[in-house]
Amino acid sequence: MHDGTRVMAGQCTTVFEGSREREQRGDVLVVVKPDNTVLVHDAEGYQPVAWLTRAETVAVEDGTVTASDGEQFLRVVAHEEHGSARFPASQAGVPVGDCPACPGTLVRARSDVTCTDCGDRYGLPTDATINGSRCDDCGLPTMRVERGAAIECCLDRDCESLDERVKDEFDREWPCKHCKGDLRVLRRGGLLVGCENYPDCDTGYSLPSGVAVGDCDCGLPLFETSGGLRCLDSRCSKEA
Ligand SMILES: [Zn+2]
Ligand SMILES: [Zn+2]
Ligand SMILES: [Zn+2]
Ligand SMILES: [Zn+2]
Repeated sequence: MHDGTRVMAGQCTTVFEGSREREQRGDVLVVVKPDNTVLVHDAEGYQPVAWLTRAETVAVEDGTVTASDGEQFLRVVAHEEHGSARFPASQAGVPVGDCPACPGTLVRARSDVTCTDCGDRYGLPTDATINGSRCDDCGLPTMRVERGAAIECCLDRDCESLDERVKDEFDREWPCKHCKGDLRVLRRGGLLVGCENYPDCDTGYSLPSGVAVGDCDCGLPLFETSGGLRCLDSRCSKEA
C-alpha cells in the first residue's frame, strides 16, 4: 500500500531553484503524491504554480514542505497554515465489483485489477474483458479472454489458471508445419504454441486474441480476430 497523499493549505512562500528560479507568495494548496511528486496550486488556472515531479526526497514537517531532485529544489513554507493532513491514496479505475476479501471495491486500471481498500492486486491481459460474472470458488470477478477460444476464468491465477485452460483446449491440437511434432502451449511473456521438438525445430506462434474458426490450407487453424480472419502463422498468405 502507498503511504498516502499529503496535503497542506496555507499562506505560503514557495521557492523553486533549478532550471528557473522563482519565489512566490500566496494562499496555496500543496499536494505531495505517493510517488513524491509535489504540486503547488493557487487560485488561478489549472496548472500548478510550482512543482517537482517524482522528487528523490520529500520532507513534510511543521508547515514546511521540502523536496529535492538533483539540481532542483522546492521549498514551501507556510506563514499561516490553514490545514494539513494525510489521506489514503489508491489507483483509480473502472469499478468491476466488490472485493471478496474486504468491504472495498475492485477497480480496473491499465492491466490490473486492484482493491481500493486492502490493496489486493490481480494482473490481467490488456485484451481481457470483465462482464460482471463471479468465480464460483472464490467470489472474485471472472475475466473473458480470447486465446483460440473464448475463455472465461477467475481473475486470480492461483484459483484458476488461464494457461491451464488454454492447454486443455489446444495443447497438441495442431501439427508443426516443418516436422512431425505437435505444437505445445507455453508461456514466454504471452501465450504461444511451439513445436515439441524444440530446439531441433524452432517453429512457434503467439496465440492471437481471437477464436479458432476453421483450418487454413497450410494445416494450421484460422482465427477470427478484431483485425479479420488470419492464420495462426501470421506470415502465412494462404488465408481463406
Ligand atoms: Zn479488498
Ligand atoms: Zn476464483
Ligand atoms: Zn516442428
Ligand atoms: Zn496458414
